[in-house]
Amino acid sequence: MNLTKKYMTKNRCYTNGTKIQVTKLVLHSTGCAQPDADVHIGNWNTAISSACPHAFIETDRVVQTLPWDFKGWHVGLGSKGSYNSCSIGVEICEPKGHTYKNGSTMVNYDVKKNEEYFAKVYENAVELFARLCYDFLLDPMKDILCHSEVHALGYGSNHGDVMHWFPKHGKSMDTFRADVRARIMANAVPNSTITVNSSTDDINWLKSKINKVIDGIYPKLDLNGVYDAKTRIAVLITWELFGWNKDGQDDGWRAGAKTIKRLTQY
Ligand SMILES: [Zn+2]
Repeated sequence: MNLTKKYMTKNRCYTNGTKIQVTKLVLHSTGCAQPDADVHIGNWNTAISSACPHAFIETDRVVQTLPWDFKGWHVGLGSKGSYNSCSIGVEICEPKGHTYKNGSTMVNYDVKKNEEYFAKVYENAVELFARLCYDFLLDPMKDILCHSEVHALGYGSNHGDVMHWFPKHGKSMDTFRADVRARIMANAVPNSTITVNSSTDDINWLKSKINKVIDGIYPKLDLNGVYDAKTRIAVLITWELFGWNKDGQDDGWRAGAKTIKRLTQY
């Protein structure tokens, strides 16, 4: 993920500099067909702007516009209060070509044409949210919401993002939270020898790394959390590719510290 900083220093959220304790992450989309974050930043980096997210997501970069622990204005006010005082708000830039009616209904949105665009911004969002969950010790399954979900809870204004858009591409906030969690686990390096008795997360970490090593050589392993016979063979092939285990001493049912360390390079 290509993360750059471009703080909106004229915006009152920046000049106020009110600190928050981050306990939630809120995902938005901008609600207009403008993929260029710089255009949004140009519009919102003023002393009279009433909106200020912490970042914009484009297809090939993430632009941070406010320090993560500054209070932003992104989710508005609901019947019970506002998550602005406890959350980081991130806006996904939407592609060109569509308009809106009745607030949050996309008109002339070309799903097929936008598949690649969506896949890229979704991936950047997963990567960014995984990193923010890690940095702020948040639980991706509980602490990530989108604007429409925050509204439903009573802590945000009545906007439809991102659930007016994600389902067009077969995604939802549930898939997003699960994908962020999977990304965090993929980044979490196991700290002890991996065996059939290891946690499913550790075994899946091993299998996902090995899948990269043996790509095109051996069928991909299912990330089902089981250290099975196919996993064992894949471990043996991996060692062979590394030039290890020439004497065949190790039977492939254990992946120790040396293997884990080498696999972190993938
Ligand atoms: Zn929103």
